[in-house]
Amino acid sequence: MCDECEDHHPDHSLAAPNRRKVLLAGASLVAAPLLAGAATGAQAEQAQSSVGNGPFPARAYSAASATSPLVPMQIERRAIGPNDVFLDVLYCGICHSDIHHVRSDWGPDRYPCVPGHEIIGRVQAVGSAVTKFKVGDIGGVGCMVDSCRTCENCLADREQNCLMGATLTYNSPDPISGGHTFGGYSDKIVVPEHFVIRIPPGADLAATAPLLCAGITTFSPMQHWKLAGGQRVGVVGLGGLGHMAVKLAVARKADVTVFTTSPGKIADARRLGAREAVLWSDTEAMKRLANRFDLVIATVPRAFPMQQFVDVLKLDATLVNLGALEDLQSVSGRSLVFGRKSVAGSVIGGIAETQEVIDYCAARNIKADIELIQPEEINRAYDRVVNKDVRYRFVIDMASMKPVAGSRG
Ligand SMILES: [Zn+2]
Ligand SMILES: [Zn+2]
Repeated sequence: MCDECEDHHPDHSLAAPNRRKVLLAGASLVAAPLLAGAATGAQAEQAQSSVGNGPFPARAYSAASATSPLVPMQIERRAIGPNDVFLDVLYCGICHSDIHHVRSDWGPDRYPCVPGHEIIGRVQAVGSAVTKFKVGDIGGVGCMVDSCRTCENCLADREQNCLMGATLTYNSPDPISGGHTFGGYSDKIVVPEHFVIRIPPGADLAATAPLLCAGITTFSPMQHWKLAGGQRVGVVGLGGLGHMAVKLAVARKADVTVFTTSPGKIADARRLGAREAVLWSDTEAMKRLANRFDLVIATVPRAFPMQQFVDVLKLDATLVNLGALEDLQSVSGRSLVFGRKSVAGSVIGGIAETQEVIDYCAARNIKADIELIQPEEINRAYDRVVNKDVRYRFVIDMASMKPVAGSRG
């Protein structure tokens, strides 16, 4: 409920600001007028009008079942705790995982499902103990919004591997509010500051959003397996993750080969900086490339015939699976044994590493190739992602989200 208008009004800017109530609410909340002591006039008015303690009504796009389209609905964001950051969502990328969840591809999922884990937002309010952000800063939220923070993996900055299970940004059991978490296809979100990434000034915000999943997911294995300049890396699949993998590997001066099923993407792979692009079906080329690669990063979002990509690995080299969560399709034990090759997996990255890839990309002007869409276009965008018809990431302009029908916003 809104602190200012005492109504379920999703847009505070439409409500008359009430400074006294905002100041009272400030006991556990550092709101703009309190922080920006020097801010006067329009600035202070603007900040006042968009904060309160919460909980907050928010607009979202959600799916009601595995066969339902995404439609507007009103959800509630929790009250701001001392360590929380409250963001107005500006942009949210569409990741293939969103579609897997909405459509229950990985087993029966939770509904209503509000997807979205490539979120860029502007800080509207911070809890009293928050030190990393102030009102007006730009923050990013990726695939996690919490973890136990005490297990050995969390303590080693590997929150994504939390032994208690990290709280994912959407469709995870929500230990704070109950129910399950709602993601970034929404105009507002409340997240503990530890899980909010600082976005450097000057960043292209829409094209930075995909770095919070596609970017970190491909950066993390390059860090872990120490991909170095001059080494040969294969990227299997040229979609949202794959195109980021190429850009990040090229930035390291690695020698990149793309393996794709789409003849139409061969020219794109070269444009992105790959030395060559090979069709999976090109058996001659696959034979020529046997035992050549130091690292292969597989971004395909489902199980696929993997052996041909094990065959291109050198002695001691690794194929890292990022997207296939099903049982892997027949990999020859013999080829692993005699080649001392590894098949491994990796999922996103920790919060410190996510901050690292954001800073790394900002310093080098690396960003995703995106197509910016309006929220009403989400369902059509899903079909195009499934049909591999996106170059290379859809990003939703969440700030343009209209009021939910039936609510008084
Ligand atoms: Zn994702
Ligand atoms: Zn943990």
